[in-house]
Amino acid sequence: MLKLVNRFARPQTPVRHATARPAAGAPSNRQPAGEAVARFRKIIELEIRRGCDDGAVIGGIDQFLPNARADRAVAALIDAAPKLEQSYRTLTPQSRESWLRTLLNAKPSANSKGKAAGSTGTGQKTGDRPSKAPSTGLRAGSGRADIPKPPSDPLDQPVTVVRGIKEGLRARLAKLGVHTVRDLLYFFPNRHNDFANVCTIAELQPEEEQTTLVTVWSAHVTRLGRRPGTEATVGDETGTMRIVWFNQPYLAEQLKTNDRIVLAGKVTVFNRQKTMENPEWEAVPQGDTDDLTHTGRLVPVYPLTQGLSQRVLRRCVKEAVDKYAEAVQETLPGEMRRRLYLPALSAALRQMHYPETQEKHEEARKRLAFDELLSVQIVVLGRRLAWQDGRAPALPADGVIDAYRAALPFTLTGAQDRVLGDILGDIGRTRPMARLLQGDVGSGKTAVAGAAMAVAVANGFQGALMAPTEILAEQHFRTLSSLLSKLELNSRRLRVELMTGSLTPAAKRAVTEAVASGEIDVIVGTHALIQEGVSFSRLGVAVVDEQHRFGVMQRAALRERLANTDAPTPHLLVMSATPIPRTLALTFFGDLDVSVIDELPPGRLAIATRWVGPDERSEAYGFVREQIREGRQAFVVCPLIEESAVLQTRSATQEFERLSSYVFPELRLGLLHGRMISAGKDAVLNAFRRGELHILVATTVIEVGIDIPNASVMLIEGADRFGLAQLHQLRGRVGRGAAQSYCLLLSDDPSQTARERLQLMEDTSDGFALAEADLRIRGPGDYFGTRQSGLPEFQAADFSDVRLIETARREAMRLLDEDPDLRLPEHAPLAEAVARAKRIVSGDAS
Ligand code: ADP
Ligand code: MG
Repeated sequence: MLKLVNRFARPQTPVRHATARPAAGAPSNRQPAGEAVARFRKIIELEIRRGCDDGAVIGGIDQFLPNARADRAVAALIDAAPKLEQSYRTLTPQSRESWLRTLLNAKPSANSKGKAAGSTGTGQKTGDRPSKAPSTGLRAGSGRADIPKPPSDPLDQPVTVVRGIKEGLRARLAKLGVHTVRDLLYFFPNRHNDFANVCTIAELQPEEEQTTLVTVWSAHVTRLGRRPGTEATVGDETGTMRIVWFNQPYLAEQLKTNDRIVLAGKVTVFNRQKTMENPEWEAVPQGDTDDLTHTGRLVPVYPLTQGLSQRVLRRCVKEAVDKYAEAVQETLPGEMRRRLYLPALSAALRQMHYPETQEKHEEARKRLAFDELLSVQIVVLGRRLAWQDGRAPALPADGVIDAYRAALPFTLTGAQDRVLGDILGDIGRTRPMARLLQGDVGSGKTAVAGAAMAVAVANGFQGALMAPTEILAEQHFRTLSSLLSKLELNSRRLRVELMTGSLTPAAKRAVTEAVASGEIDVIVGTHALIQEGVSFSRLGVAVVDEQHRFGVMQRAALRERLANTDAPTPHLLVMSATPIPRTLALTFFGDLDVSVIDELPPGRLAIATRWVGPDERSEAYGFVREQIREGRQAFVVCPLIEESAVLQTRSATQEFERLSSYVFPELRLGLLHGRMISAGKDAVLNAFRRGELHILVATTVIEVGIDIPNASVMLIEGADRFGLAQLHQLRGRVGRGAAQSYCLLLSDDPSQTARERLQLMEDTSDGFALAEADLRIRGPGDYFGTRQSGLPEFQAADFSDVRLIETARREAMRLLDEDPDLRLPEHAPLAEAVARAKRIVSGDAS
């Protein structure tokens, strides 16, 4: 890693000088007309290809533009585009790209030449990315004809170029996120039906995945256990078989007598009768059987949308694969592909859809998974290199730590000590720290972060902590105030302040000024810290809590703010109470070193957890009442409604009313949800903290960080809707005091898997174990309980493949070591693939 960093720190390749600077600086009269414009356009195009990372020219686009204006034609072009209201650097990659594109398409019109060009152009729309070259005759002398267009990639064409795809189909494909030919090639099937080995019913062997083509004899709704399902009898010329689908009574209506269907699954034998449980199935329209069996051995089964049938989708993809798979440019250097035994990209795409064998399909999947993982690694490692390209102040800890420890009301745990050692090692050097501090709720991360900030202050620098919500910021503020304000450094007490969006303008101004002048040593806040124009006099350590809960934009803005000031880069510590499994950490937090606090402070009692069925609901309420009678308090968390904050709020409000009027009329209840104004939230939370409320009914706004030691019961409604990691987080809101605490998981109608997950919550208090299980069961998209987290959705990769993730990481390091900006010609296709992935990783895709 060190070696990598050094390589990155070397002067940028001279290539940029060669193209960018002369174009910008050289007097325009020495150049043939239009040449400067052509060069200018090339740089803008390069910037777009790089994913708008402001890296196409040294010093960035903001510096480049005024220089480029030295050429009159370029200046006219720039003037013809909408004026940038803010600096390019502060734009999101998405707005950068759209601005650059308008720039490329701008039509200079001020002078007479421009007028001429304009008049030819009026009737003729030069769309955004014209695929036809303009007729040069008309354009001669306009100064635009000689501007080369980048060769357009056939894969970027809209899907409608594929034979048979017309408007109606285009719209439906768009619903599946498929817009271009590339999207279609990368629209992978969920699975394949194996028509090479279609067995007769007589041939079906127990315990093997097999496919069979049968006729429906009868199908009806039946009770299977507690819930209705579908039972069917199917047959072929060799016999009959029983099929059951749990929980899917509606299938009984869809399956008609004499329908031909394909079934895939495992058969069991019971009472000498063959049975399939929950097989995958697909209707085979009459006359289609030959078609299916002939086209393939392994026939793809795609995820569908309304109005789009398997048949139609197969035909579209087949067309696209036949016509365009060959045109796909190989992205991996040949040497790497051979070394890793990966198939060529175009072959892999083909095999993903119509594999010759299962083995070839697996090889193809591995290749495409590797591509995805490699791109992500290049992005995150590149980000790391860029961050560590800056210089931070070296902050030696001598003596401070002893004073800090002495001021603490407790002794640090072994894990806290070890992690603090990692951090002190980092901040003692000038290479900016980029570290993730993981630790279960209550493991004492804030105490460790406080130590790092104390060291910064002792060295004459400042500390800042940014939290995703006001509630959390306030809580951190309280904790840090109590930890730090007893400390006397440089013969004065530390000053810790809070900055949130709800301060009055006057208070904001006062805090902003005191931060800028260096009077404030440690500032805690929400993203108001980066939005309110706070500029630090000497920021030494920046701590970001629960980074994944910040919006994608805010995260990018934060890094930019921290890295792109004239001041030294601060040391960055990211904290997460959500245990992040290793594969995820390597992937999405791959730009960070990881330290883990894997031990809780002594004396904590495990939280007794039970899941509660519908018939035990009143007992659960009785239990809550009992705890309250003993002087404790309780949280009631309402079911998760991810799609809509409005619905979520409504359901919390209804639950609050129901509980206040019917269930606990004798108790005092409060309501807390995300759509309340922050003063309202504070009032409720403070009343609860002071013990004036017995029960706090809340949405998941209370998820992280709320610290109310007297609360001993966490009752979670609709527990089966939450991820395990999220349930664990919620559970962590209790058990923060000396008393035994309890977590009750209510679920009215848990499915089999839901039961297993709830059972896991009862049995395990290890956040990491739960996180691993959650990742396995639900996948990364749901992992953080929010789709907003900016995690890309992989199409081929999955997170169980630690080896492949590690390989991708190693290869990314090797590549960046050799060619940090992927500028070598042989890396050009890869650079483009990475730029595409980058838009996905940073959530700027659509
Ligand atoms: P986290 O941020 O990891 O959730 P905090 O730093 O907020 O954890 O600590 C949780 C609680 O435990 C706080 O009240 C804190 O004062 C206390 N605490 C932290 N470290 C220790 C320790 N080593 N021994 C005892 N209590 C501790
Ligand atoms: Mg905390």
